[in-house]
Amino acid sequence: MNDDYYATLGVDRNASPEEIKRAYRQLARKYHPDVSSEPDAEEKFKEVNAAYEVLSDSDKRSMYDRYGSEVPPGFGGFDYGGMRDPFDIFTEVFGNLGGFGGFGRSGRPGPRRGNDIRTSLNISFEEAAFGVEKEVEIRRQEVCPVCSGSGAEPGTSPETCTECGGSGQTRQVQHTLLGSFVNITTCRRCNGKGTVVRTPCHECHGSGRIYTNRGIQVSIPAGVDDKMTIRVSGQGEPGELNGPNGNLYITLDVKAHQYFKRRDTDVILELKINVAQAALGDTITVPTLDGDRQITVPAGTQSGAIFRLRGLGIPKLRGVGRGDELIVTQVAIPKRLSEEQEELFQRLGDTLGTEIVIDDKQGFVDRVKEALGL
Ligand SMILES: [Zn+2]
Ligand SMILES: [Zn+2]
Repeated sequence: MNDDYYATLGVDRNASPEEIKRAYRQLARKYHPDVSSEPDAEEKFKEVNAAYEVLSDSDKRSMYDRYGSEVPPGFGGFDYGGMRDPFDIFTEVFGNLGGFGGFGRSGRPGPRRGNDIRTSLNISFEEAAFGVEKEVEIRRQEVCPVCSGSGAEPGTSPETCTECGGSGQTRQVQHTLLGSFVNITTCRRCNGKGTVVRTPCHECHGSGRIYTNRGIQVSIPAGVDDKMTIRVSGQGEPGELNGPNGNLYITLDVKAHQYFKRRDTDVILELKINVAQAALGDTITVPTLDGDRQITVPAGTQSGAIFRLRGLGIPKLRGVGRGDELIVTQVAIPKRLSEEQEELFQRLGDTLGTEIVIDDKQGFVDRVKEALGL
């Protein structure tokens, strides 16, 4: 290698960074192995790059000016092993000429995130309210455990692809009136992996993936609602070329409850009371999410009256506290009466008279809706 970096780039020792860059660009274009027809292009290209690596860095350049390429011990020296990838340099030199898309590493397929998996899960009203641990059965692609995803039968290993030499991409130089440029495409033989499998794994037949039924433990938080979707990170399918796993998305189907309906964090219970309870008042046992409770219905309770049991609703999904249980009464008129009951109603009717009183400006349904804020 030529030790005089200034001579290599053909610049003066006092050259400005711009002059050095300009000289480098010209020479890199001239000697790039992909486009150059010079017999010793590759060697020259390396020399040009080595010189530019040092002279383009003000620290390295001042050290070089003082000590030459023989760096005294303790100064670390110039790390040619860590020289920038020639393809990156190629991009830097030609990248802003326009119309040369697909250069350098951009043509190579990069890591890809694995597929997401979607599934649904049935849970009960109470499970949605208080949370639950569930196992969800899914079928997904996993990395083949026999070959660890290489696709090669154990004892054999994937071979470097002869088509692309392991780079995963094929490069073709095209000469046009505008100059020569390189066309980079994903290698068709190895699909960009850079390796091919000669003896395919008996388990996955060379794909490196197998379909597996898997039970995933899922923690459903308290307060979830019907049709909500829960994300379980990383439990989707494996990524490609070291990409991350996909996610698992679980949409919840909350079963209807025998007694309760739900509005946000409130639980709604429709309570039928009889005429006597409505007229005279009563203490009634009602179901709640936390077991039975007693409520006192006062004398004169109408259909649509609402009683609130604070803090016995659904826990808030985000934040603390719980909603309420709202008990909506409906006065049930008996459809069939015994002889005795009929007699009693007759006597009651006699005392009530036949005057029709219209004071109910709103209907029952409207009053319930208003009370519930619907
Ligand atoms: Zn396998
Ligand atoms: Zn290949």
